[in-house]
Amino acid sequence: MIIVKVGGSEGIDYDAVCDDIAQLVSAGQRLILVHGGSSLTNEVSEALGHPPQFITSPSGYTSRLTDKRTLEIFQMVYCGQMNKGIVERLQMRGVNAIGLSGMDGRLWQGKRKKAIKAIENGRTRVIRDNYTGTVDEVNCGLLETLLDAGYVPVLTPPAISLEGEGINVDGDRASAATAAALKASDLLILSNIPGVLSNFPDESSLVRTINLSDIDDASENFAEGRMRIKLLGAKEAIEAGVQRVVIGDARGANPISRALAGEGTVIS
Ligand code: ADP
Repeated sequence: MIIVKVGGSEGIDYDAVCDDIAQLVSAGQRLILVHGGSSLTNEVSEALGHPPQFITSPSGYTSRLTDKRTLEIFQMVYCGQMNKGIVERLQMRGVNAIGLSGMDGRLWQGKRKKAIKAIENGRTRVIRDNYTGTVDEVNCGLLETLLDAGYVPVLTPPAISLEGEGINVDGDRASAATAAALKASDLLILSNIPGVLSNFPDESSLVRTINLSDIDDASENFAEGRMRIKLLGAKEAIEAGVQRVVIGDARGANPISRALAGEGTVIS
């Protein structure tokens, strides 16, 4: 079983991702796809007059400020155009994909953080109109039922809170929780970069391997912004028993097969 997370940044080739999935699934690979939608969400937010805002937590992680209106826009884009666009691409290739958000069937459940802290100009600010959280529980039964029946699940945030509200969760960490819960062999985190770069954005500075014990140092030394969350997700997955995490490139042909062959940053 492999979990493939494909980001939502510019440059990602979803047709190539879906071609590769069609090949792997027809060869018998059990696979779940998790996707993002950040760049389209930014565009739609601007168009709807509610521009995106990003915050940095006291521990240095960057995330989207998700008030109620942002959550609505997030659902339009992630559960709507992004999810259904990928399902359509897979269906056109003969893959019986089924698109679900983490809310459906309580697939990804977690606590809503009703107040979060953000660092702004060196000061801490508390934000209360907040719909974010983390995935604490994965509905493995639902995913296994779908996989056993021959469907390919295509999953997307938001997740669901204990009270039943939608919550924005990080896609990389949700993928890590899914990989851990289903005891996947591999978690492939694909984005618009070759992997972890020691000298970002110089693409020739790819870090080929990172051991579990060195993840924190790598995060501290070279990763900024969103890459730090990918490394945190990788660490959580490996600690929970996933054998290998590959942070790889989704910009060219056969991105999943290439990551499976070890192209990118291999973390184990
Ligand atoms: P996605 O939405 O596709 O998952 P993210 O925006 O979450 O992608 O994360 C990938 C981004 O991380 C890259 O586009 C890059 O801007 C940023 N990044 C920061 N530091 C690094 C680094 N050391 N190596 C690679 N990417 C990095």
